[in-house]
Amino acid sequence: MRLAAAQVIIIGDERTVVLKRMSDKQIEHAKSELHELARNLWWSWNPSAQSIFQELSPFFWEHSNHNPVEVMNWISGSELHGRLQDPVFFDRVSSVCKTFRAYMNQKGTWGSKNASPLKKSPVAYFSAEFGLHESLRIYSGGLGILSGDHAKSASDLGLPFVGISLFYRQGYFNQQISNDGWQQELYPVYDPLKLPLTLVKDKKGNPVVCTIEINGTFVAFQAWAVHVGRVTVYLLDTNLPQNDDRSREITAHVYGGDQTTRIAQEIVLGIGGVRLLRAIGTNPAVFHMNEGHSAFLTLELLREQLQAKKSLEKAEAYVKDRCVFTTHTPVPAGHDRFSRDLMNTAFHKFSEVSGLSIDHLMGYGRIRPADINETFCMTVLALKMSRAANGVSELHGRTSVQMWKDLYPDWNKDEDPIGSITNGVHINGWASPTASQFYSRTLGPKWHERIRDAKYWQKSIESKKISDAELWALRTSLRRELIEFARKRLREQHLRHGGDGLGVYENFLSPDVLTIGFARRFATYKRAPLFFRDMEWAIRMLNNKEKPVQIIFAGKAHPRDDAGKHFIQEIINMTKRLDMFGKVVFIENYDINVARYLVSGSDVWLNTPRRPMEACGTSGEKVILHGGLNVSTMDGWWREAFDGKNGWAVGEDATAPTDHEQDDKDAYSLRTILETEIISLFYDRGKDGIPHAWLKRVRHSMASLIPQYNTDRMVVEYTKKYYLQKKK
Ligand SMILES: *Cc1c(COP(=O)(O)O)cnc(C)c1O
Repeated sequence: MRLAAAQVIIIGDERTVVLKRMSDKQIEHAKSELHELARNLWWSWNPSAQSIFQELSPFFWEHSNHNPVEVMNWISGSELHGRLQDPVFFDRVSSVCKTFRAYMNQKGTWGSKNASPLKKSPVAYFSAEFGLHESLRIYSGGLGILSGDHAKSASDLGLPFVGISLFYRQGYFNQQISNDGWQQELYPVYDPLKLPLTLVKDKKGNPVVCTIEINGTFVAFQAWAVHVGRVTVYLLDTNLPQNDDRSREITAHVYGGDQTTRIAQEIVLGIGGVRLLRAIGTNPAVFHMNEGHSAFLTLELLREQLQAKKSLEKAEAYVKDRCVFTTHTPVPAGHDRFSRDLMNTAFHKFSEVSGLSIDHLMGYGRIRPADINETFCMTVLALKMSRAANGVSELHGRTSVQMWKDLYPDWNKDEDPIGSITNGVHINGWASPTASQFYSRTLGPKWHERIRDAKYWQKSIESKKISDAELWALRTSLRRELIEFARKRLREQHLRHGGDGLGVYENFLSPDVLTIGFARRFATYKRAPLFFRDMEWAIRMLNNKEKPVQIIFAGKAHPRDDAGKHFIQEIINMTKRLDMFGKVVFIENYDINVARYLVSGSDVWLNTPRRPMEACGTSGEKVILHGGLNVSTMDGWWREAFDGKNGWAVGEDATAPTDHEQDDKDAYSLRTILETEIISLFYDRGKDGIPHAWLKRVRHSMASLIPQYNTDRMVVEYTKKYYLQKKK
C-alpha cells in the first residue's frame, strides 16, 4: 500500500509508526523507480523531478551539469535507502514517480486522437544533433535545440515518433576564452554509462550491431536509446573494437573533422539509421529529414526497393512517397556538398551492393544530373527525394524557393514547391522553475496544458488575472537569478585566468539595471558587435547615471570559423575596457543551462541577424514566457510575430544593396529604438516603482506570442500538413 501525503507528514511520536509503515519493499520500489526516472529525460522538463536528484547530491548535481544518472551512480544503495526513510522525502519521490507513470500511461493524447494512422508506423525523425539537455552534449546550436524540442513535444502530444542521431563521444566542444580573448576548444570524453543512455539489445539480450559500407570497407555500429518521455531517440555509435581506429572516430565529434569524416558521419546517420530501424523492427510511415545531413537515407530506401526487385522508377516513387524534408539555412556554405571523387571513395562499396553506379548516384545530388561540373549536394538530394519540403519561417520558405528554383522548371507560382512551418520552442522545457511556479500559482497548475490556446492566454494575461505588481516581481526575481549566475560564472573565469576571484565580482552587473541579453552561435551574420558600431554612443548608454543599460553575451564560434572567433575577441575586449567594466560581460561555454538563465533573466533579447540569413531563430521565443521583450531585425520568426506592440523591430523589412550599408542602417535603427523607446519606457516608473507601460508591452508579447511560437503548435502543424498528408 502506498502512503498518502496526509499520513506521512506527522510530527512527534507517530513518526516512528510511519517509518515502520514504509516497508523495505516500498523503499526498494521507490529506489528502482528513481533509477528508471533518471534514465528518462522527462525529468528535464519537470522541475519537481530535478529537485529530487539535486537534493540527493547537490555536489554531483552541479559537478555533472545536472545529470541524474551520475547522481544515482554516486549514491550508494544504503544511502539512498536511508534518504528514502525520511517520510517527507519519500512522499515527494512517490508523488513525482506517480506523475511520471501517469504521463507515460496517459490515454486520449492528441496523437491518439489525431494521428492514429501512425500508430503502428511512426514518424522517424533524422537529425545530426539533438539538444535535449545540457548534460548530453550532442548538439551545437539552434538546429539541435529544435530537434530536442520537437522530440519533447512529440512526446507530450503522444505522437508515434522515433528520433535518429549520432552518439558523439566527445560531443561539441567546451569553450574557454584565453587571456587574449581567443576561443579555446576542449573535448572531454563522455562515458555512455554516466549518461541517460541504454544500449540497444535484441530479444536475446545481445547488443544490436549493424554494418554500413563506407569507402572500401564495412563499418559496424551500435545504438544507444535515449528515452524522452514517451518517445525514443536512437544514437548511432561506431566506436566498436571490430572497427579500425579511423572508423571508430567517425562519430567522435559533432560536425567534426574534414569532408571525409563529414561524409562518413552522414552515411552512418542516413543509411545506418534506416538499417537500425529495420534491425529493431520499426517500420516508419514517414522519414523526416531535419536538414540535409541525413539525406543519404533516401539512397538506402532506394537500395532496399531495388533489392526487392522493384523497377528504378517504382523504387524512386516509393522513396519519394515516404520522405519529407526541412531545410534550415539560406547560408550557401550551410548546405553540404561533396565532390565526385569523395563520393566515389565513400560510396564505392555501397555502389556495388546497390547496383547503382557512382554517376547515377551523383545525379540525385545534382540539379542537372549529367552536369559533371556540379558537386553532390545533400539539399538537392533531399529535395528530389521528398514528397514535401519546407523552410522554417515564411520568409525562409520563400528564400529557399529562390535558392533552389532551378530544380523546379515547371513551378507554377500558385503552389510553392517549398512551403514553411515556423519553428517553436518546447515551453515546459524552457520555462525556468521560477516562471513555472509563478504560472501554477497565478493561473493554476494546468496552465501548461493550454499552451496552444490563444483565447486562454488572452484572457489570463490581458485581463489582469496577474497584477502588474506580481508580474514585476517575477521579472525582478528572474533578473536577480541571472545576475547571481553570471557573477558566479565570471568569478570562476577570473580564477582560471589567475585572478583571486575576490572583490570586483560582487559589483559586476546590477539587478536593478535594464539587462540586454545576446547569446547564440557566433556566426558572423548574427552580428554580435552591432551594439558597439558607434562606441561613443555605447559608452554613453552603459554609463548613464539615471537610465543605465548592461549587456550579457554568450556564444560559441564554430571551431573553423575564425571570423566568428574574431567577433568573440572583439566582445571580450569590450568587457576589459575600464569605461565598460562590469557592464558588458561575456559568459563562457554557452549551452542549454546558460541559455536558460539568459532567456529568463534578460529584460530585452537582442537579435541582429543580417536579413534574410536567420531562417527562423528560436532563442527569442524562449524569453516570451519569462516576460522579456524581443528587439530584433525583421528576419525569421520575428518578421511574422512582430505586430508593432509586442516588442521592437530593428531596421526595415527589406535588404540593403551591400552588407556594409545594411549594418550601418540596422545599427542606427537599433541605437534610435534603444535610446528613444526602450530605455525610457523601462525607467518610466509609477509611484509604486513599477514600469506599467513596459509591462503592458510584456503582457501583449505574452498573450500574442506564447500560443503561437511553441513546438506543440509546430509538431501539430507538421503532423497535419506533412506526416499524415500525402502529396496529390
Ligand atoms: C535556443 C538556443 C540556440 C538557438 O539560438 P538562436 O538565437 O535561435 O540562433 C542556440 N544554442 C542554445 C544553447 C540555445 O538554447
